[in-house]
Amino acid sequence: MISVFPEVSSQYLIGGEWKTSSKIKEVRNPAKITEFVGEVALCSETDVTQAVDAAENAFKAWSRTSVDERAKRMKEAAEKLSTVIEEHVSLFVRENGKTMVEAKKDLLRCVEVMSKGADTLLEWWKPVHVEGQAQKVQIRKRPRGVTAVISPWNSPMILTFKRAIPAILAGNTVVIKPATYCPLTVMSCLKIIESSFPPGVINIVTGSGSVVGEALCGDTRVRTIAFTGSTETGKKIMSLSSNSVKKLYMELGGNDPALILPDADLNEAAIKRIRLGILRASGQVCSAIKRVYVHESRYEEFVDKLKKEFERVVVGSGIQPDTTMGPLNNRSQFNFVKELLERSKQIGAQVESIGQKLDSASWEEGYFMLPSIVTNLSHDSELVRAEQFGPIIPVIPFADLDEAIEMANDTEFGLRASVWTSNETAAIDIADRLEAGAVFHNNHTVFQNLRLDFPGIKESGLSQETRWGGLELFTDCYGFAD
Ligand code: NAD
Repeated sequence: MISVFPEVSSQYLIGGEWKTSSKIKEVRNPAKITEFVGEVALCSETDVTQAVDAAENAFKAWSRTSVDERAKRMKEAAEKLSTVIEEHVSLFVRENGKTMVEAKKDLLRCVEVMSKGADTLLEWWKPVHVEGQAQKVQIRKRPRGVTAVISPWNSPMILTFKRAIPAILAGNTVVIKPATYCPLTVMSCLKIIESSFPPGVINIVTGSGSVVGEALCGDTRVRTIAFTGSTETGKKIMSLSSNSVKKLYMELGGNDPALILPDADLNEAAIKRIRLGILRASGQVCSAIKRVYVHESRYEEFVDKLKKEFERVVVGSGIQPDTTMGPLNNRSQFNFVKELLERSKQIGAQVESIGQKLDSASWEEGYFMLPSIVTNLSHDSELVRAEQFGPIIPVIPFADLDEAIEMANDTEFGLRASVWTSNETAAIDIADRLEAGAVFHNNHTVFQNLRLDFPGIKESGLSQETRWGGLELFTDCYGFAD
């Protein structure tokens, strides 16, 4: 019988032992800031060293466990997690601000990452035989060692599981550091599954990036760092980790452009996909559409249609079934987005805040914000160039396709982009010219196939296409010749 919501408040995990810290930070509900959800432990540098000790010790046996055994344990863990999804949805909503639909999708995807990852492992681990050599050569795989997984607050479940699960499956041990704004669902789900693995395979340390994150990145025994977060932090981690030769997997910030061409089919379904591309998780998605360039012949029509689509958005607490967009996650992000909007107005931008307030009486109790369409802004303005990470979208007209591509590429980021046109050949030609890790045609979303991922280029990440659900990121290949 699985205990639902095992106590995780102010806890952390080292070598199979759940410890409690007296140094804590409160976790509050972004839809009702006075509501206390739990506490997160503020671990010390010593805790981090002990977590790496535990992971290093456990690696000796776990790395030699057969792939069948590793896959079997992961399947069992996935099964356990699948029975407690419903109970975790509301916890996730209360600490993160997502809607129930968004939260449930994320949780179910984590179970899928586990069970499909286990199947993938069995297929992928087999040696690959290379023909045409004087000797018989095979390419074999081995795990790398202690892996640090550092994740952000915006989608903490999937962004922790997408990295930690393949690392564990590949025979590594992990030290996970979730973000302090909403660590509880991650901790509770890890508490459900960790007993399926030997002690020390999964370790969790919580606390600030400057103490816990930096200690983890600076530990020379950590062989791989899988980081998802801002570009600024990513750069710091690259520098901190250079005291030893580590493999870095970096998923960083984005400022995704969407290009609307003269022949785009702006039907109802397409406009809905654009709205979701902009407003999913209140715009707090690395690969959200963050600026739209529209051909001048379709500009007014596009803005008008997007306004009508935004009018349907219901902003409120994610717990309420009628809510279609939740609050922003934390005060600092809320203030940043509000101030950005204010500064845009001061330079002459036209801001239309649209949508419905689910509950006007409690509006001020959370980090709620109506979605806004921002026009009359140049491509060089702050809102267009920054990663706003909120429900405000600048829409800019263009006259010429070359100019649109130039503006789309005129950024340090290169995560995702989308092209909206009825001409598939043109879409591929334009995609070839766009600087992004992935380009969508008439959509702007995530890859449904869990094996496939394309991280960002330029300052959005260290591009490494993955076709095996990330297993290849946490493994060294070696050649065996006989
Ligand atoms: P962040 O960079 O502030 O923090 C991410 C994680 O790093 C947190 O756990 C944090 O505690 C830790 N951290 C902070 N400073 C650290 C340091 N000096 N050393 C080690 N660890 C440190 O990011 P955030 O505000 O939590 O998340 C939002 C950002 O993440 C946005 O820029 C967004 O685009 C990006 N993001 C990227 C992807 C992607 O797949 N490319 C996905 C989600 C979010």
